[in-house]
Amino acid sequence: MQQFDLIITGGGILGTAHAFHALQKGLKVLLLERDNYPVGATVRNFGQVVPSGLADKWFDYGLTGLALYKSIQEKGDISVRQNGSVYIASDDDEQLLIHELKAHYDNKGYNAQLLSASAIQDRYPAIKPAYAREALFFPDEISVEPDKMIHGLHAYMKETFSHLKISCYTPVTSITESNGQVIVNGQFQANKVIICCGHEGKLLFPDIFSNSGQMVSKLQMMRTIPMPELQLKGNILTGLTIRRYESFAACCPSFHHIQTPQHYEELKKWGIHILFKQATDNSIIIGDSHEYAAINQTDDLGFHTNHYINELILEEASHIINIKSKQIATCWNGFYAQHNEKNIFEYDITPQIHIRTGIGGKGMTAGAGYAKASVDLLYGN
Ligand SMILES: Cc1cc2nc3c(=O)[nH]c(=O)nc-3n(C[C@H](O)[C@H](O)[C@H](O)COP(=O)(O)OP(=O)(O)OC[C@H]3O[C@@H](n4cnc5c(N)ncnc54)[C@H](O)[C@@H]3O)c2cc1C
Repeated sequence: MQQFDLIITGGGILGTAHAFHALQKGLKVLLLERDNYPVGATVRNFGQVVPSGLADKWFDYGLTGLALYKSIQEKGDISVRQNGSVYIASDDDEQLLIHELKAHYDNKGYNAQLLSASAIQDRYPAIKPAYAREALFFPDEISVEPDKMIHGLHAYMKETFSHLKISCYTPVTSITESNGQVIVNGQFQANKVIICCGHEGKLLFPDIFSNSGQMVSKLQMMRTIPMPELQLKGNILTGLTIRRYESFAACCPSFHHIQTPQHYEELKKWGIHILFKQATDNSIIIGDSHEYAAINQTDDLGFHTNHYINELILEEASHIINIKSKQIATCWNGFYAQHNEKNIFEYDITPQIHIRTGIGGKGMTAGAGYAKASVDLLYGN
């Protein structure tokens, strides 16, 4: 039987980042991925790395992740671009919130700059002047290409750490303990196993997942044909995002007093907020919506893409940039697990078998930093 110090189930960002930090401690690590290559939330997202949208320790995890991505990019290509993040306010309330968030980050010493309407036009000529009143810009933030990043990170880790083995097309179907060792699939042996299986709750320990309090969110996304005529640098977040993200909810005194304008009501019903990210081929990723089901009822979310939701997203997006439905090249659904009270699902089945999943919508930003804290806790700092 092949022997490792640590076996990780799941090759998305959370599993991969746990492997990275364990490898840095000198551990011999086996990373097992069910599919031929990861196709979960880690490759279906925007690739926005936006600590500014997070609060409390999750902001700190975001900063750790930001620094880590930047430092790896200096040694191997993981598709990092530093073009900043911008939150564009379209009305008085959203303006008030970006001012309050700026004050919060000024206090923390985190670089945040207000952009006037004309400064927005200079930096983002594709944004319609009628929409953009004022904006809050975070120049230090980055984006990654979700369809490239995790592959680049696996390649970098394989090259850097001789004591890493990554095995794809290897679904983990059994985890047992024998003589103080954990046995995976009857084939691999380790002192510890960490399960980072994303929203897949039924293959391993279905009872624990069913009772975990996790929900699964289904998100609808779109990508346009390449549109070099629309220059949208960095992470573009808009009014509904200002009304949704946890940093605004946690750090802005006015957040819970502002009203929802009537034209946002239908969008909010579907959990829609509008984000853009221009990929390196100049296509634009547009999203997203949120529908929810309990983790053991994920099938209820359906296999379809709801055309009505896409129409709502595109209609709102067309108030912000010049976009038409015939320019949409592809649509897809993404899924992630989240825990509404705990922000993450941590469960130790035994002192050697640990579940770490359910990071929700912030895994690309905070996953790498959270994984460092998680590995430090399990192995000592
Ligand atoms: C549409 C969308 C947009 C998003 N945008 C952003 C964004 O811009 N910024 C941001 O910070 N976050 C974003 N997120 C959130 C982020 O993508 C997730 O938080 C993150 O990718 C979760 O990573 P994960 O490793 O937990 O899960 P996943 O990426 O789903 O990885 C889990 C992996 O485990 C594997 N697996 C499961 N079970 C087994 C098994 N039994 N054996 C072996 N392998 C197994 C799966 O095949 C999968 O590869 C977005 C998410 C979505 C869906």
